[in-house]
Amino acid sequence: MKHILITGGAGFIGSHLADHLLAQGHTVTVIDDLSTGSIENIDGCRQNPNFYYHINTIMNEPLMAELVDRADEIYHLAASVGVRLIVEKPVETIETNIRGTEILLELAARKRKRTLIASTSEIYGKSSKVPFTEDSDLVFGSTTRPRWGYACSKAIDEFLALAYHREQKLPVTIVRLFNTVGPRQTGEYGMVIPRFVRQALAGEPITVYGDGSQSRAFGYVGDIVGALAALMDEPRAVGDVFNVGNDHEITIRQLAELIIQRAGSKSAINLVPFEKAYDENFEDLARRVPDLRKIKSLIGYEPKLGIQEIVDRVIVYFREKGGA
Ligand code: UDP
Repeated sequence: MKHILITGGAGFIGSHLADHLLAQGHTVTVIDDLSTGSIENIDGCRQNPNFYYHINTIMNEPLMAELVDRADEIYHLAASVGVRLIVEKPVETIETNIRGTEILLELAARKRKRTLIASTSEIYGKSSKVPFTEDSDLVFGSTTRPRWGYACSKAIDEFLALAYHREQKLPVTIVRLFNTVGPRQTGEYGMVIPRFVRQALAGEPITVYGDGSQSRAFGYVGDIVGALAALMDEPRAVGDVFNVGNDHEITIRQLAELIIQRAGSKSAINLVPFEKAYDENFEDLARRVPDLRKIKSLIGYEPKLGIQEIVDRVIVYFREKGGA
């Protein structure tokens, strides 16, 4: 039985991780400022006597010092996430992601607490060497395009975490999360699957950006949180970086068609030019697929849910919830 701290634990992935760790009998403390997370996400956890939560910011250093001291292990998931948020609030994104992680790492390093830092597949930028391996080059666009501020902020987090490992022996692991989906994810911040499912259920046109030939590989949140916990338990993962996701690729147009079919919807597909969807400085990525050989060989990771089952579960979730 461990005491585990999850920053961003009321978020989509963080709340699923909290469920998973509580089910294993651990004590879980969450800190979340509810910027993109919600109390509803942790409704189930709140029934559990081993669950504690603080609605507060990770920038609150005295509180963070106390929470880090009490924890045996720390999952750092708190961050500004989602393409839309990044384009709309670049200052907040860059500051939260860099300063917040710096505070956490400094505190964790003092007590050498086992830490896992959530990074992102955005970090590979627009590299065309698909699938992405952990040692691939990072290829970012100009600073005049806000999207890359997110990738750069996460790259700094990774450099800093690895530096704390090397210089101060912080037992840290970095995970690069690829497109992660499932119940509780909201379409509010631009994420494609909850948006398409909501549109399909409402019989509204499905807004496919560009020509829909861009592709992604979607991982189920339950598979992802299992992988994070397994990496945390694996001493050989310390000081290293891992892709986490699913490597089955699908184009956004195929995804729209699949969602329409699985939802039994009559929605049409509406192609929206990228400049209308975001702004003229936006750059989308043509393809993004993880190379999963590293995590597979270390912990025997195998994603269980394919895209059709994922879509079905999200449809059930939104039907029960009654809208996005
Ligand atoms: N997308 C889309 N319609 C939407 C939302 C997103 O066509 O309503 C596309 C988006 O342009 C991207 C893909 O779906 O190519 C995945 O977008 P998301 O924001 O979920 O994640 P990203 O991989 O871009 O971080």
